Amino acid sequence: MLILTSASIKKIYGKIMNLKKALENINIQADWIGLREVKESTTYRIIRDLNPESNNTVLDHGIMVEVLVNGQFGYFATNNMSYDAINQAAKNAYTQALNASKYSLYPFTKSVRPKSVGKYQSPYQKKNIPLDELMETLINSNKVLRGSKKIVSAISMARIVDMEMNFISTNGSEFSQNFMYVGPGFRAIAQDGNIVQSRSYTDQCMQAGMEVFEQERVLSKCETICKDAVELLSADECPTEKMDLVLHSDQMLLQIHESIGHALEVDRILGDERNYAGWSFVNLEDFGKLKYGSDIMNITFDPTIPEEFASYGFDDSGLKATKEFIIKDGVLLRGLGGLESQERSNIDGVANFRACSWNRAPIDRMANLNLEPGDSSFDEIISSVEKGIYMQTNRSWSIDDFRNKFQFGCEYAQLIENGQITKTVKNPNYRAVSTPFWNSLKMVGNQDTFDVYGTPYCGKGEPNQGVRVGHASPTCLFNNIEIFGGA
Ligand SMILES: [Zn+2]
Repeated sequence: MLILTSASIKKIYGKIMNLKKALENINIQADWIGLREVKESTTYRIIRDLNPESNNTVLDHGIMVEVLVNGQFGYFATNNMSYDAINQAAKNAYTQALNASKYSLYPFTKSVRPKSVGKYQSPYQKKNIPLDELMETLINSNKVLRGSKKIVSAISMARIVDMEMNFISTNGSEFSQNFMYVGPGFRAIAQDGNIVQSRSYTDQCMQAGMEVFEQERVLSKCETICKDAVELLSADECPTEKMDLVLHSDQMLLQIHESIGHALEVDRILGDERNYAGWSFVNLEDFGKLKYGSDIMNITFDPTIPEEFASYGFDDSGLKATKEFIIKDGVLLRGLGGLESQERSNIDGVANFRACSWNRAPIDRMANLNLEPGDSSFDEIISSVEKGIYMQTNRSWSIDDFRNKFQFGCEYAQLIENGQITKTVKNPNYRAVSTPFWNSLKMVGNQDTFDVYGTPYCGKGEPNQGVRVGHASPTCLFNNIEIFGGA
């Protein structure tokens, strides 16, 4: 990894491997060989309390060589892009696979590396805007975030990632995927004596262009953040009792991620992750049978929403990504497992075999995991609640290793009394157990309440891999949930 000034980036970043030539140059007797090249440039522009804090671009470029020998995959990565270094990496991967094949968990064939040819390009309207324009937006947003004397800290951030991956294999795969990822990050922290409250806008990472940082749009969001943070300082504490819970789609992001996504990763169910990320309360026998949630719960693996953070054409095994129902009408149908896990478990899966970069082997990951919209308007949801609470934006989370019992906290909440939103309360939390919680899903919001969210911070694997995930959801109503206050 190199830290460079923008002038020197173009020179190095412009270098493109000839993967075909690199593959031809490899001199080993493997049953299958694949090369996956990843080039990524990540730019951070951060303003904290009107001072520039970060203004840099990080470049990362390397290649993973993957081989199949005696039914065992071996991996070796290098950031030396010479043909000789790639051939040496292939020899190392071969030795590793040959030695490991004496202890294989499962004898794989190249059927788990399907032939794929094609291209994927993420959508964007504006590839670039002048740097001074972006900085002006960030500084102005920071001023708006600090719109009250009660705001003690404000941060404005733009994270812009350009990523290109190219894949080639000995069974005819040849595809490339180009992504532009943008992540806004705005937060205001308000303080009054020993009361501290925070509001943020950080989980709206998308595949898009610089249009996301259009000034008017950013400033209006920051105005709300500042107002909410100050409002929370004088709000009552969230009550502790059972009541109906309405979750904004920005909290549904975390709810789906933790209590569905991780629980349904097939490698976790098989025990691969028990040392680090954990296991799952879901068993292989549950697929096709388990009533995960109420009849109106429909969860999809969906790589087809172009702006969603983890949309792509192919996963890192070369499997073409398609939309699939994971849970339909409340019944668990399919796991989040790539081709290797599908063979090992005999469970239907999806194209989610993914690595975080060139120097990691792919494993089963969430990508876009969404709750499909229903038919209730936001007003219909609120007016149906006699006594309840409407929570927005995750603040804290805790869930056990089996992804069963959880408690989550939000930044901002409003009480609902006799079908009306009444007053704002601070420090809202709720706790439940995964399947009873999803079975208490009573109303699902319509398309007007549906929003797309994403985060680059899903961690799993040894050594750790942080990957991008997307979650889109409507506003939802859950019946009779344990609510409690407290920071
Ligand atoms: Zn995660």
